[in-house]
Amino acid sequence: MFAADFDYYAAESITEVMQLLERNPGASLLAGGHSLIPLLKLRLSRPPAVIDIGRIGALRGFRRQGPEIRIGCLTTHADLAGSPTMQDFCPLLSEVTGLIGDPQVRNRGTIGGSVAHAEPAADLPTALTALGASFRATGPRGQRSIGVGDFFLGVFETALETNEILTDVIVPMKQEGQGMAYAKFPHPASRFAVIGAAAVVNVQDGRCQSASVALGGLVTRPIRASRVEQALADSPLNEAAIAEAASLAIEDLGDEDLLGDVFASAEYRRAVAPSYVREALTRAAQQAR
Ligand SMILES: Cc1cc2nc3c(=O)[nH]c(=O)nc-3n(C[C@H](O)[C@H](O)[C@H](O)COP(=O)(O)OP(=O)(O)OC[C@H]3O[C@@H](n4cnc5c(N)ncnc54)[C@H](O)[C@@H]3O)c2cc1C
Repeated sequence: MFAADFDYYAAESITEVMQLLERNPGASLLAGGHSLIPLLKLRLSRPPAVIDIGRIGALRGFRRQGPEIRIGCLTTHADLAGSPTMQDFCPLLSEVTGLIGDPQVRNRGTIGGSVAHAEPAADLPTALTALGASFRATGPRGQRSIGVGDFFLGVFETALETNEILTDVIVPMKQEGQGMAYAKFPHPASRFAVIGAAAVVNVQDGRCQSASVALGGLVTRPIRASRVEQALADSPLNEAAIAEAASLAIEDLGDEDLLGDVFASAEYRRAVAPSYVREALTRAAQQAR
């Protein structure tokens, strides 16, 4: 399959990206290309122009800023998975990115591309939801910050405007007494998450002070499992308490239509989701001890 014709530009700076977006309405940004290029080749996307942002070195890498970590949008999954520093700063991101696809995908795919693409079966949106991340975007009117709860709107749909570039993903540093883990049912062909559950727990004196739990692969966007979280607030984090709280994930899914396909029906996903929540919580609790 060949893509329809498009104009190609390689931008050297964010300012140049802004100028190119203004001159080329409807243009697509190209990061790692692992989602965009298949869409172009299948002609599911036919932008008049493609703006390659891959040469903008300032957008790659991460650094600590006080209590937060600022991750440039071009940081690859492999950069995050293989970094001992990230393992200290935020082990959930190391774990999740290490489970994405295969080495080729991890070497090319970027955090910015993954979240801007907003595939419901992607892993990072679920982890970033549990972490309470925020996103920094630059557009014609300057920069703005978008909280994770307002960012993912639906299948391939985010709060980003078509003339904005996502520049950074910001997550909190891991705290003392905190544990975090991700449990995933990978599709055997693509490795995308049939179900993904991310958990962050804050533990003091053996009791869970608060928990943040997110689920992916089930509806059109990542969702917080608020009933699970409420059940764990000020609760012991033993096997029984975790199992009881995880069972409430079914209620968190509510009446919303779940995704389903020939590999895993909606009913199946609903039935097994609590066991992934339980696994993520169990490992997060072990880490916090
Ligand atoms: C075989 C295969 C297996 C995979 N398995 C998994 C998996 O197990 N789990 C998982 O989570 N993902 C998986 N992926 C997806 C992978 O994680 C890609 O990294 C991700 O989908 C897109 O990242 P990218 O950098 O390649 O973005 P691109 O393909 O370059 O871009 C994707 C979209 O995001 C937009 N975009 C990119 N960067 C920006 C930006 N900075 N600002 C605004 N818009 C931007 C583009 O315009 C495009 O619309 C898989 C992909 C493949 C091909």
